[in-house]
Amino acid sequence: MTDLTDLTLADARARLRAREISATELTEAHLSAIAAHNPRLNAYITLTADLARAQASAADAALAAGNAGPLTGIPLGIKDLFCTKGVRTTAGSRILADFVPPYESTVTANLLRDGAVFLGKTNLDEFAMGSSNMTSAFGPVENPWLRRGSNAALVPGGSSGGSVAAVAARLAMGATATDTGGSIRQPAAFCGLAGIKPTYGRCSRFGIIAFASSLDQAGPVARTVQDCAILLRSMAGFDPKDSTSADQTVPDFEAALGRGVRGLRIGVPTEYRVPGTNPEITAIWEKGLAWLLAEGADIIDVSLPHTKYGLATYYIIAPAEASSNLARYDGVRFGLRDAEPNDDLIGLYEHTRARGFGSEVQRRILIGTYVLSAGYYDAYYLKAQKLRALIARDFTNAFAQVDALLTPTAPTAAFAMGEKMDDPIAMYLNDVFTVPASIAGVPAMSIPAALNQDGLPLGLQVIGNSFDEETVFAVAAALERAAGFAARPGQ
Ligand code: GLN
Repeated sequence: MTDLTDLTLADARARLRAREISATELTEAHLSAIAAHNPRLNAYITLTADLARAQASAADAALAAGNAGPLTGIPLGIKDLFCTKGVRTTAGSRILADFVPPYESTVTANLLRDGAVFLGKTNLDEFAMGSSNMTSAFGPVENPWLRRGSNAALVPGGSSGGSVAAVAARLAMGATATDTGGSIRQPAAFCGLAGIKPTYGRCSRFGIIAFASSLDQAGPVARTVQDCAILLRSMAGFDPKDSTSADQTVPDFEAALGRGVRGLRIGVPTEYRVPGTNPEITAIWEKGLAWLLAEGADIIDVSLPHTKYGLATYYIIAPAEASSNLARYDGVRFGLRDAEPNDDLIGLYEHTRARGFGSEVQRRILIGTYVLSAGYYDAYYLKAQKLRALIARDFTNAFAQVDALLTPTAPTAAFAMGEKMDDPIAMYLNDVFTVPASIAGVPAMSIPAALNQDGLPLGLQVIGNSFDEETVFAVAAALERAAGFAARPGQ
């Protein structure tokens, strides 16, 4: 039974269609694995076992009738930031601990349309703010990987920590995630998975609890590049319910995987050579470039001159938008109301928000409110918007010269729980390589490239031009073949 959880999504799809396995046994195998390992990993906040069984049996009926969809019978984890109709959706926050949405997000509706089975809602940093999954009101997630010779619990990365821990530990075949400044790519790198943040607008944001609306994008995490291609095709697509959704046809991403990289120009952004970068990160980057060179790509140095302003820009724009988006949690309309008996309206707001939000979320609301305030708007928010345009222009200029960029995904491998926790700035530095692509809205993917000296996975990031996920997939697939990454966590 347990071998079923080891299949790739693509293999499972083939075996389901050949009726060698059933959706019900595949789902049961995952539910057993969750029962065995979730108590330690804490990857799921809410399990939907009954729903999963009903969906699996409907999938078996569809398979028997010969009308399977692209994902019929595939068990997935859903980040608990996607509203799921009738299923509690918490955003990892106490303020939404009992929120049951009356509607389905477009991305999850698309997955259901294509036949997927939902195992449950996966843990995350509160409102997707974080890089460690330590800010969840539902407790931290453990990374299924351990340093060689150590039992110290490591973080899975964040904010999509539950999604990646579940997929790495074989508690789901793939999962949905969201990325505002790196929350798909950095956790994928920390857990030895592939994960893609598509172009802004490729996936609908309708029904995804908002963090920073001009940056938030949904995408998949999975164990292979192909599995990500399969999932993204189902998740993506124009949606009139999201005014920033792009009216673009969704290509067959899987078809791009075999293209190879011969003749492609791969850019190396010189500004990503940050002084003091961990030598093992630099070494895997060089190796990735050598693999692509050996496959026939040209490697070209490019400049993204405003990279050094990326983090500062992000940590103004993202909190500004968050402070505005999170104003809706007022104890009146959504979620928790936690007031004292004699509270007036202001008291109700204050008590509910002070008790409902954790400290990282409160920090972001304070920063965001400050940078938007009348006296400081020009000094911070307006300047950040100007820098955003310059950072985006850097990418436009780079993509006039090259087809894709190759960089590391994160400056370190997974760190231990407790590390960096008392220093928000050290935590924000995790995003140094991922934030620029978010600011520019371009697609970027992390793939597992190697293990470091401690036996932990390291990721490489492929960044592409807007709406050119196909080139990103082609380069990622070539890197995946060259890397031959077959390690799996000991759990
Ligand atoms: N780590 C970043 C932050 O804390 C990115 C989070 C995200 O992409 N959701 O904001």
